[in-house]
Amino acid sequence: MLECRPSCENCDKALPPNAPDARICSFECTFCAACVDGVLANVCPNCGGGFAPRPVRPARNWKNDNFLGNHPARTRPVYKPVDAAAHAEFAAAIRNIAPEER
Ligand SMILES: [Zn+2]
Ligand SMILES: [Zn+2]
Repeated sequence: MLECRPSCENCDKALPPNAPDARICSFECTFCAACVDGVLANVCPNCGGGFAPRPVRPARNWKNDNFLGNHPARTRPVYKPVDAAAHAEFAAAIRNIAPEER
């Protein structure tokens, strides 16, 4: 189950569970869309993978208690701003490889 982390790891922008601009890698490293498209160039600084939009966990109990109230989002942030120059160097060899080929 996704933790639904509360904010962007790079810029600390709030990313509540229904944020339309939350992006995650397969390890759930969590960033905002502006950071993914900008400084990260769709390369996760932790694993080198690509990003996808994070699904929104339903706020209402539509079925079988599978909703935010029963499975709340994580509240403790992960804040590890990237060194833009170091990331550019890391991403240079990766950014032009499609995520499904990495
Ligand atoms: Zn951000
Ligand atoms: Zn990652």
